[in-house]
Amino acid sequence: MEKIPVVQIHALSTASTEKFHVKIVEGKFQNLRRLISWPLIALFFLLVWVQINDQPWLLFSFAQRQIILFGHSLSWHDLPLLAGLMIAGASLLFFLAVAWGRVWCGFACPQSIWTWLFIRIEDWTEGRASERARADTQPLRGERLLRRALKHLLWIALALITTLTFTGYFVPIREIIDDLFHYQASATLVGWIIIMTGLTYANAGLVREKICLHACPYSRFQSVMFDQDTLTVSYDAKRGEPRAHKRQADTNSGDCVDCHLCVQVCPTGIDIRNGLQAECIDCGACIDACNTVMDKLSLPRGLIRFASASGLQDQPERVLRPRLISYAVAMVIAFGAVLYGFTETTQLLVEIRRDRGALFTQLDENTICNHYRLKIEGFGLANQKIAVTLKEHPAFQLYGPPVIDLSENNAVWLPYRVCAENMTLPKSEVLFELKGSAVAVTKKTTFIAMSI
Ligand code: SF4
Ligand code: SF4
Repeated sequence: MEKIPVVQIHALSTASTEKFHVKIVEGKFQNLRRLISWPLIALFFLLVWVQINDQPWLLFSFAQRQIILFGHSLSWHDLPLLAGLMIAGASLLFFLAVAWGRVWCGFACPQSIWTWLFIRIEDWTEGRASERARADTQPLRGERLLRRALKHLLWIALALITTLTFTGYFVPIREIIDDLFHYQASATLVGWIIIMTGLTYANAGLVREKICLHACPYSRFQSVMFDQDTLTVSYDAKRGEPRAHKRQADTNSGDCVDCHLCVQVCPTGIDIRNGLQAECIDCGACIDACNTVMDKLSLPRGLIRFASASGLQDQPERVLRPRLISYAVAMVIAFGAVLYGFTETTQLLVEIRRDRGALFTQLDENTICNHYRLKIEGFGLANQKIAVTLKEHPAFQLYGPPVIDLSENNAVWLPYRVCAENMTLPKSEVLFELKGSAVAVTKKTTFIAMSI
């Protein structure tokens, strides 16, 4: 049996255990990262405010028992759709991991994006990495103290805005803001906001790469995802070694001039020249840094580049391989199933219960009645009126509210009575039909005319 090939990744961390300051670098991959992360940040902060017909476009309210996904109210029967969405997301992640390593982590993971935002604030308030490192050796006072205080204030402000926005996906954001401004927010909500703000501040400001190194499970199982043809950020040791501090044309030194720029820009503090490591999030910062060095030395770019293990060993690279194709197929099926599921969501839930008191009641010698309670629950039908009738059965008469307005309450329990004259069958089928302008549901129950 063919074994799944795995790529050995250093489990031993080569990341710095001391405090380090990340140098900000410019280049193709940093531009690409901005191109991906800025729209994601904008979506995160804006989507929470979007409303359609006075309803949030996205809401996961457990308190109000309401889930609204892309303007679509989901009933509790549609919850598997959320599971499907997670499976589809996971298959996308696996596909990306097999093809391009941890690019999700480097380019789109919220932890990385927020870490970069916090680093930008640090750079703006306390100066560049080299200035910050120098300042660390001096006493904290005067202007430095003010700059440090400003940094932490801005970090806390960003953490608070992030928390409010995140919470707005679970409790309508306008309600939160209104409650906070009118001092009506519950202790639970205030406590949650304080804790989440603290966690965001600590995650992106203080702990940063430690989350990627020690808390993220993804880095631990990536070795079973990668194969020899996975493209990851790699150092071309054949070209770079032996390193030389100054490149001298008459020596046999490699192209790496040991300038350490690739280490200084690394957000996880590792040296990619030590090989593929679990801590590398494939952000490409070291590629951009090394390319600037290569440009200055008039050497070809790409000493550090996205390359596969096969490519680095000058072996043929396979793009289409069974594992990649399997994940692609799984991803297409999962997203297809979720899309189909969206077209089949439940808008009107109807539950019929027989009255427990008696199987039937006899109104007069010829007329028998059965009593029911109908639970009618609407999802995204706030402005609709629902007509309740019996379907195509002239023998039966329906008594009860003929029209239900779900604008006040989206779930109601109502009593109904169905009567029939001269019924000869002991049991018959009754079909309740509930119709709104955009929804129709037929529900079956039994009519009992005599005890058996
Ligand atoms: S940036 Fe390039 S040249 Fe400088 S140490 Fe890293 S690999 Fe070597
Ligand atoms: S080694 Fe390079 S790609 Fe990996 S995390 Fe560090 S800077 Fe990013």
